[in-house]
Amino acid sequence: MPHVPDTFTAFVVDKTGDDKVIRECRRFAAADLGPGEVTVRVAWSGVNYKDALASTEAGKVARRYPLVPGIDLAGEVVDGPAGLAPGTQVLAHGYDLGVAHHGGFSEYARVPADWIVPLPAGLDARTAMTIGTAGFTAALSVHLLEQRGLRPGTGPVLVTGASGGVGGVAVGILAARGYEVVASSGKPEAAAYLKGLGAAEVIARAETGGQSSRPLERERWAGAVDCVGGETLAYVLRTLRYGAAVAASGNTGGAQLPTSVFPFILRGAALLGVDSVRCPVEDRRALWRRMTGDLRPNGLDTTVTDVVGLAGLEPELDAILAGRKRGRTLVAVSGQE
Ligand code: NDP
Repeated sequence: MPHVPDTFTAFVVDKTGDDKVIRECRRFAAADLGPGEVTVRVAWSGVNYKDALASTEAGKVARRYPLVPGIDLAGEVVDGPAGLAPGTQVLAHGYDLGVAHHGGFSEYARVPADWIVPLPAGLDARTAMTIGTAGFTAALSVHLLEQRGLRPGTGPVLVTGASGGVGGVAVGILAARGYEVVASSGKPEAAAYLKGLGAAEVIARAETGGQSSRPLERERWAGAVDCVGGETLAYVLRTLRYGAAVAASGNTGGAQLPTSVFPFILRGAALLGVDSVRCPVEDRRALWRRMTGDLRPNGLDTTVTDVVGLAGLEPELDAILAGRKRGRTLVAVSGQE
């Protein structure tokens, strides 16, 4: 039966006396863990853009110090209420995890029971974290677009920021569902990877990210998954086909949205907001079940580009913040040796 040892390793972001943010591996004890009914031995976590923001002061994401970042985790229950017996395989992501509540970059984590998603049959902890928050966000984006009427065969679907975590899984899910996927990327070297995930065409970021004084341009896209925001989301809105929608989840390209009302009032375009953080737990459990079935992405193995331990996190956090990463970096937290 698993149990929490006297001390274990956690990757911690903290502030020094002179207010500088530091990042280091520390020994933690059970008493250092956050509140909650479920203690998990974390097997796998992943590196997300938000983790990188949480590990720098400028990111303005950390809401406590010290903080164990890691907005997603998967592993085995050590201690939990009825229905979550020791040994149950689970995952958690979102809510305050890795932001205001210690997250997945720790050999053990404690979280409220209503944050927990039991791993559906057919999904192991490593694969769950290969999908991770980014992949869940991609699945939610596709789900929202289809709820609004998007169907395969109705025209090309654009995915922006395609070489990243959200983008890569979005390409993989859409392609597996039979959509004609056009992937936009700032990394020419990622073209083969994106075609391998099922993209019919890869276009340069310059084509989707430029400024324009024109409120509308040629109608191109039957739908779009955008995790970039800024000028890119403005471009998408200008080029959606009549009645089409874009699911918007991110801001790697900027938080401002320099657009006009014309895509909405002349083309009936829709801007669908995607939030994985406060997505209700029943909806999130249902979507995770679908990710082992009709929303399972193509090419999950190829989206993992690096696997690091807690001691190897720092350069990965810097690289994702600088936009240098492709695909998903997994964190092998405990039990993988
Ligand atoms: P990644 O860093 O893995 O991917 C983001 C991609 O955006 C990059 O690979 C790059 O793609 C593109 N990009 C990076 N910098 C720029 C730039 N300056 N201008 C234009 N494009 C850029 O991040 P994730 O996929 O993990 O997350 C993407 C976004 O989604 C983030 O903003 C994140 O905070 C947000 N997010 C939101 C969630 C929600 O619930 N709403 C949940 C998860 C993530 P390429 O080089 O291919 O163009």
